[in-house]
Amino acid sequence: MDFSLTSDQKLFQESVRHGLERILGGRRWVEIDETGAIPAEVIREFGKLGILAMVCPEELGGQGGGWVEAAIAAEEVGYHDPSMSLAVYTLLNNAWPYVLSKHSTPEISAMIVERVAAGEMFFGIASTEPQGGSDVAGIRTRAEKSGKGFKVFGEKILISGVREALETLDYGGWLLLARSGGEGHRGVTALAFTPKWEGKLEDGVEYSILDTIGRHGISTGVLRIEGAEIPYERIVGGEGRGFYIAMEGFPLARILVAAANVGAARWALERGVEWARERRLFGGKPISSFQGVSFPLAEAFVELEAARLLVYKAAWVADRFTMGEASREELNIYSASAKIKAVETAVNVFQTVMKTYGGISYTKEVDIHRGLLGSLSYLVGAEGTQNIMRYIVARDLIGREYVKL
Ligand SMILES: Cc1cc2nc3c(=O)[nH]c(=O)nc-3n(C[C@H](O)[C@H](O)[C@H](O)COP(=O)(O)OP(=O)(O)OC[C@H]3O[C@@H](n4cnc5c(N)ncnc54)[C@H](O)[C@@H]3O)c2cc1C
Repeated sequence: MDFSLTSDQKLFQESVRHGLERILGGRRWVEIDETGAIPAEVIREFGKLGILAMVCPEELGGQGGGWVEAAIAAEEVGYHDPSMSLAVYTLLNNAWPYVLSKHSTPEISAMIVERVAAGEMFFGIASTEPQGGSDVAGIRTRAEKSGKGFKVFGEKILISGVREALETLDYGGWLLLARSGGEGHRGVTALAFTPKWEGKLEDGVEYSILDTIGRHGISTGVLRIEGAEIPYERIVGGEGRGFYIAMEGFPLARILVAAANVGAARWALERGVEWARERRLFGGKPISSFQGVSFPLAEAFVELEAARLLVYKAAWVADRFTMGEASREELNIYSASAKIKAVETAVNVFQTVMKTYGGISYTKEVDIHRGLLGSLSYLVGAEGTQNIMRYIVARDLIGREYVKL
């Protein structure tokens, strides 16, 4: 048993840290959160840093990295932008290009993965619909056969990256889940949908941006698809296999969600510790001398370490899964456990640190609230709700036949 990173992983961590300090240093991440947009040059810098599509094969334009390295990158991005906008960008543009590279044709994969890796293209997931996101097998967006492909009709809501894909960058799209067959999960097909190509938005797609309470840098929006045409060669993983394709991507994405939350909470805890040392009251004593202040910080450390261990265990299991050495059940249970623990820990750590600061944390003089609002997005949704994570763990722990939806 070895809890340390390898020397290559440490070097990678150092280079990502330096790169992110350069790209997001000072208060650039706060500017991004305030202006509500990730500049295209920041995305290109992320590409140069080698943290986009880093888990995709090198021959398709990726970095050929593993999930432990991707978790290291996601943790650092969370730390350097605790609002987590850039973490969302990074994690989506690893998990979904990876799934594409595994299940799509080499031609389709290469044209998307290369551009994502270079920071020229956004490629996320479009699953959630207005009637409820948790029931992926119940999606209603229709993919109707017509000539050489499908015509797609439907609405997707709460989709990350709508502005980045359709406005900021010249190329953008999603792994789109649509119903090409009958009811139930076997009727769902995954399609490599790229409505923005060479700066041009395809016909049959309208969009709007939702006004979110946090994580303002990256957009969350609505896609209305009215007859957009998607050729058959864009089917990912075979017709009627879309549910399984999505269920392969979600656990991988969840590990990076969890890693980003660990990074953001680590940033917050450091701020809380600094403040507890410096703020002096009751005859010049640092407030850390009061157990009411220091014990919650100590507990935050314990919870954060537990969360980090689960995150890296899950990433390690993901690497073993990709090599055929771990089962899908193991991947599911560890990635869901990591997301439960890391997100709930981050939400608690942000609250602890806000209490450590006292009233000033309720103003924009202090940036902790930006992290709290970012972590809340993962508490209510994104890559599956916390309840759905509990269902996954219970199902694999107790047995599918005993735990049914
Ligand atoms: C900021 C943000 C970004 C997002 N980005 C994306 C994206 O890029 N792509 C995408 O496809 N989706 C995205 N989502 C959507 C997200 O994944 C969904 O919010 C999530 O799947 C839950 O769906 P829902 O919000 O419709 O809630 P519902 O599915 O309607 O659930 C409502 C509540 O009921 C609970 N619930 C539902 N079913 C069960 C059950 N069987 N047992 C116990 N409890 C249950 C849920 O846990 C939840 O608390 C994003 C969400 C947010 C907040």
